[in-house]
Amino acid sequence: MRQHLLNDLTTEHYRRSVVEGVERVAAQLAATDRPFTGATVDSLASRVERIDLDRPLHDTTAVLDELEDVYLRDAVYFHHPRYLAHLNCPVVIPAVLGEAVLSAVNSSLDTWDQSAGGTLIERRLIDWTAQRIGLGPAADGVFTSGGTQSNLQALLLAREEAGTGSLARLRILASEASHFSVRKSAKLLGLGADAVIPVPVGHDKRMQTLALAHELERCRRDDLVPMAVVATAGTTDFGSIDPLPGIAELCTRFGTWLHVDAAYGCGLLLSPRRRGLLDGIERADSVTVDYHKSFFQPVSSSAVLVRDGATLRHATYHAEYLNPRRMARERIPNQVDKSLQTTRRFDALKLWTTLRMMGADGIGALFDEVCDLAGEGWKLLAADPRFDVVVEPQLSTLVFRCVPSSAADPAGIDRANLHARNALFASGDAVVASTEVDGRHYLKFTLLNPETTTDDIAAVLELIARHAGQYPGESLDRAS
Ligand SMILES: *Cc1c(COP(=O)(O)O)cnc(C)c1O
Repeated sequence: MRQHLLNDLTTEHYRRSVVEGVERVAAQLAATDRPFTGATVDSLASRVERIDLDRPLHDTTAVLDELEDVYLRDAVYFHHPRYLAHLNCPVVIPAVLGEAVLSAVNSSLDTWDQSAGGTLIERRLIDWTAQRIGLGPAADGVFTSGGTQSNLQALLLAREEAGTGSLARLRILASEASHFSVRKSAKLLGLGADAVIPVPVGHDKRMQTLALAHELERCRRDDLVPMAVVATAGTTDFGSIDPLPGIAELCTRFGTWLHVDAAYGCGLLLSPRRRGLLDGIERADSVTVDYHKSFFQPVSSSAVLVRDGATLRHATYHAEYLNPRRMARERIPNQVDKSLQTTRRFDALKLWTTLRMMGADGIGALFDEVCDLAGEGWKLLAADPRFDVVVEPQLSTLVFRCVPSSAADPAGIDRANLHARNALFASGDAVVASTEVDGRHYLKFTLLNPETTTDDIAAVLELIARHAGQYPGESLDRAS
């Protein structure tokens, strides 16, 4: 079994195994003509269940053959131009290269003595991101597993900075279109069930600053402590960007921590044409960025950035075996002092190889392309009487639904749209998401693939109209 340990004696086995795996994936990608095969839970579950984990195959080719059967053939492929569902991007090859290197070397970014140069590379990328945001000279941050963890850590810092009063009085103000990880974080941070105050959004799905001002006043009157305002720069459903300058102004006036959740909108930091949409983000106390959403990076790759690096001390704990105080005094860079995680992947390497290969403008231009595409998609939807589209996109999502000409019953429209989404998924021809708007079912395209064309969008809309039209009791075929 020792031949499977990666070391100086096994480099040939390593090379052959990994190349064979790469060849297998490449062949699969080349042969994939749909984002999904439509495989059902039951059919896949029985194949996975059949595997006897106590009887190993002892052969790379056999392992890959089996993997093809239980996973590769029926995976959901984000690189396909008709995968339009969630915030998953096609990945760039330089990042996949970085991924291969980082898992083989397997540095752990908690301490200098487990990573050396890896820690310095991560720090450079944190500084680079903070600079792009404009957070100023005292900024710092750390890579995380995703936006959920970044939001949690930012809100932990905000809670600690708010002082040590009663947790029951703490409030977080976030728009009603903000991400659910804000509420989850509040729970993990020991806040009350009503700690997150939903601030209304306008028709454009952006937080209303007047409403925020009103809620902040109300907190003051009721002797509550608004420990943070969460502004979303790119809501998950609508891609809407809260009015950052106005929100920042209010946070300054009320002395409230401003967290900007740019998990999605962070791609604008590199955009040659749209950077202005993030104006005001430089006034944040903390920012969440998900490189694995709009920087075309493989999962996971995310970071939390803070204006004042000293606030990261709220996540600092020392262990003699790992990161004793003495090391901090000796200025040995141990990233664990800033992180909620201990053992931690060197995800930063993927961004590094990407930037060194493509440059920031290269990534930003790809993101601009998908935002342009969303604009084209919006025009198609707005001009088509069969569809009702919610809001003109600032980023790259489209929320819409099919409106049957005959059906007067809102519940029937809901069912037809849900049916269309499920039928499309089962066919594997395209994958789209569904969501709710004002209690009604809608469909969603999240466009993150520059290879998707307006023709793809038009074709998927036709498929949706057809499936919705075939839903029992609904007729959508106005033309005939
Ligand atoms: C996706 C998303 C998150 C959560 O990020 P994960 O990386 O999935 O944990 C948080 N906020 C917003 C606005 C998001 O779109």
